[in-house]
Amino acid sequence: MPSGNEEFVVTPWEVRGKVDYDKLVKQFGTERIDEALLKRFQKHAGELHYLLRRGIYFSHRDMNWVFDELEKGHPFFLYNGRGPSGHTHIGHLTQLIFTKWMQEKFHCPYYFQLTDDEKFLFHPDLELKDTQQYARENALDVIALGFKPADTTIIIDSMHARSLYPLAIQVAKRVTFSTARAVFGFDNSNNIGQIFYTSFQAVPAILHSARVGHNVPCVIPLGIDQDAHFRVARDVVDKMGYFKPALLHSMFLPGLQEGGKMSASDPDSSLFTVDPPAVIKRKLQNAFTGGRGNAAEQRKLGGNPEVCSVFWNYRLVFIPDDAKLQEIEQRCRTGAMLCGECKNMLIDLAAKFLSAHQEKREKARDKLDDYLLKEETAKKPSRR
Ligand code: SF4
Repeated sequence: MPSGNEEFVVTPWEVRGKVDYDKLVKQFGTERIDEALLKRFQKHAGELHYLLRRGIYFSHRDMNWVFDELEKGHPFFLYNGRGPSGHTHIGHLTQLIFTKWMQEKFHCPYYFQLTDDEKFLFHPDLELKDTQQYARENALDVIALGFKPADTTIIIDSMHARSLYPLAIQVAKRVTFSTARAVFGFDNSNNIGQIFYTSFQAVPAILHSARVGHNVPCVIPLGIDQDAHFRVARDVVDKMGYFKPALLHSMFLPGLQEGGKMSASDPDSSLFTVDPPAVIKRKLQNAFTGGRGNAAEQRKLGGNPEVCSVFWNYRLVFIPDDAKLQEIEQRCRTGAMLCGECKNMLIDLAAKFLSAHQEKREKARDKLDDYLLKEETAKKPSRR
């Protein structure tokens, strides 16, 4: 069931309006990440990532079960991915930065799926060669962040179909059109590839178990807009004898304009990892803020960081240090800092961050093959 009401819309293909995350938790039937769960993260990881401390990862399915299993000596693996309809933007990096922390703290294998088939099937203007090219480009961003090749497997759907297809058809056989229509809102105008696609997105949640020959818990850090795919997948893989994947849901990084999230299909809504300094500067100078109508008013009344795209960029990506973030928030709210100064600070931070990332990204071109899935025939595991 897509979540839609007058104020906001959240589906796997569209996020629009001011998202009410409490409503989403109720509508999707997920659980809030509470203090007790944060304590379990703290206990096992030795610290809390800033995206957990700040409540950006705010909801989950079955993470307490994952920690129960971990405490019995059964580690988990990580899976998430990205639809390559364009270059990677900063919102995607947030997910990857958190996933890398999870991998380092929990020493687990990680599968990153690039759904070039999905973007081809759902975007009327994209050819398969375009999404395949973007998939390879997006993979460079994963490698540039420093994921270790020994523990990281990158899957490109159209390239690795031989490994995925035997599992995908087992998923597909258990999903009726009626279920797909109810969950994703399909109608007679959808092409049949779109209807089948969710079967492919389910596969990496069980691929590691299939490869090692026994069930391994899976944790998927993802934006809550992708929850619908896994509502279906969790039921189906359970029927196939695999563990249901656990989910860790994040909020979205709002776009640089008012309303909605960053989107690869709207270049000015986002900073992309390939943006040069002049483009970063132009986009951030035009970014929507929580500032007042004029400088005098802002000095008197202060700004509103809650609705400000500049502040959200600090909060999710560019300022992991809580004390520094609090200082910016306080200077904003009291009117001690105006938006021009604040934007210039972000322009500087983003340009430095992205220029270092771009260097690593170029070096990653020679390493891509080390990360790609090695094709093999999957074995079906029995339950532990
Ligand atoms: Fe946003 Fe900074 Fe302006 Fe506050 S001062 S509203 S955080 S840009």
